[in-house]
Amino acid sequence: MNCRSEITELLDLSARIGRDPLLAQASNGNTSIKLGGTLWIKASGKWLAHAADEEILVPLRLAELRLSLQRDLEFSESSVNGGGESLRPSIETAMHAVLPHRVVIHAHSVNAISWAVRQDGEERLAERLDGIRWQWIPFVPSGVPLARSIQRALAESPDTGVFILANHGLVVCGDDCGGAEELLRDVESRLAVTARKGDSCDCPLPAEVDTLPRWRLPETGQLHALGIDAVSRKILRGGILYPCQAVFLGTKVPFVPASLPIPKMIERCESDSDNPCFSIIEGRGVIVSREMTKTQQAILDGLFHVVQRIEESAPIRYVSDDELDSLLSEDAHGYRQCAELGAGRR
Ligand SMILES: [Zn+2]
Repeated sequence: MNCRSEITELLDLSARIGRDPLLAQASNGNTSIKLGGTLWIKASGKWLAHAADEEILVPLRLAELRLSLQRDLEFSESSVNGGGESLRPSIETAMHAVLPHRVVIHAHSVNAISWAVRQDGEERLAERLDGIRWQWIPFVPSGVPLARSIQRALAESPDTGVFILANHGLVVCGDDCGGAEELLRDVESRLAVTARKGDSCDCPLPAEVDTLPRWRLPETGQLHALGIDAVSRKILRGGILYPCQAVFLGTKVPFVPASLPIPKMIERCESDSDNPCFSIIEGRGVIVSREMTKTQQAILDGLFHVVQRIEESAPIRYVSDDELDSLLSEDAHGYRQCAELGAGRR
């Protein structure tokens, strides 16, 4: 198969993954292929879902990437001119570069994350992933730290083809797109968790909310479960489950008591100094800001899918305050801006 058709295969695969909200949300997740000495990888801020419609891949010289890693340098600063615009390689480029496999899929799979946020995740997955060469990677930030952890894991067991990234997601590798996708589907079926139905609500939020100038009801009614279901509220109160949640939705989940009349409820939402893009109305549902972006919407939908898959008794390993501080550094903010730009193009 020639390079062009392999890239076309990767783009088709990327679009399939990107269009599945259980595998990718907004610009998160990425795919790559190594052809000759070149790594073709999804650009930062681009959505996998848009792979068929716009330029999402950047070509990078593998030898240079690996040399940078030896010197402990991030690659995300470099930019490549593609399709008339400047594309920055994904923040997760270093991880793709250290993996020896030709094709790498990194998915923010909600099934994988529902296990990856558990303190006992590694042990609980042993049976489900039996027969697959996989490893658990304890939480580290994306970029060089994550690449280093993957390198260490590979040094221990070079034939590993699946990685569960704690508080983050899933990496699946293969010799070609077909093999990688087949492995992804196998892993997904083994990790699949049935979403909790949750509590029912006898006092739903009134349609009046939809007439407010700055707030509205969410487009998908299922999101109300985050406010109605007591287990979901308990999970969300505990802390931040994974970096994308903090970067795009804020480091604190805003809760408003259900007993307040609507005007007081809104006052409470608007007085929150964090300027949240959504609020949880305890026992009644969720309201969202009219300024909420498509990226935030997709990330909030993803959070809903993850939370509904975590059982009440799960011992959760939340992202620590120190980890959050470093995630929300200037660089993380730059990443968010870039992701929003990608969203704005649609
Ligand atoms: Zn990721």
